Amino acid sequence: MKKIMNVAIDGPAGAGKSTIARRAAKELGYIYVDTGAMYRGMAYHILKKGIDLKDEAAVSAEAEKLSVSISYEKGEQAVLVNGENVTPFIRTPEVSAAASTVSAYSKVRAALLNLQKDLAKKQSVLMDGRDIGTVVLPQADVKIFLTASAEIRGKRRYDELIAKGQTADLDQIIEDVKKRDEQDMNRTIAPLRQAEDAILVDSSHMSIEEVTDRIVSLVKMKEV
Ligand code: C5P
Repeated sequence: MKKIMNVAIDGPAGAGKSTIARRAAKELGYIYVDTGAMYRGMAYHILKKGIDLKDEAAVSAEAEKLSVSISYEKGEQAVLVNGENVTPFIRTPEVSAAASTVSAYSKVRAALLNLQKDLAKKQSVLMDGRDIGTVVLPQADVKIFLTASAEIRGKRRYDELIAKGQTADLDQIIEDVKKRDEQDMNRTIAPLRQAEDAILVDSSHMSIEEVTDRIVSLVKMKEV
């Protein structure tokens, strides 16, 4: 039987983690687990309930009651909160900012940690997030820290929005990226940082194909 492989990909917002992780997982035949979507699902629910994001006790109490799970439809991950598929609603700037705020709370993180660990025990996964190599899967077979400059990450987000026909302010987006980095790197619990044994990949001047190929070949070297 083939060994169960765990691949951790961490890095800041907009480094291309989800696009690349999705492609690499497909090539490798692994399940792609997007942990950011779980935090987003949680944040969306908290916003919808009108709970004050800054009220850690209220957010935590709600997080402990919630059931978050994921399912796969045609190979794509869907996030279910109390059984409701919230995937279509979690990619807005409001939910991004809210996810960054609530993910700093220990009880919110604890509510998702076991789900993430269990998924990786059962099957080969490529999991992306902020703390996968450091906290969720410290024994991962391969750890990648994927980054790019804030300006380039902001420009990528901007181009995505323009391509969708939306209006966007590049400077504002770069500011938002920097603010989210700042929040994610400076929180006390599970801050965004490169694990000591993670391989640094800077995608600033690499194409999606180049980064995907690099990650796939790093993983294949560890597959036996
Ligand atoms: O990756 P994505 O941008 O979808 O994540 C949304 C937010 O969720 C991040 O800004 C971060 O605050 C939080 N997150 C986290 N830990 C993870 C994944 C995401 O704290 N493993």
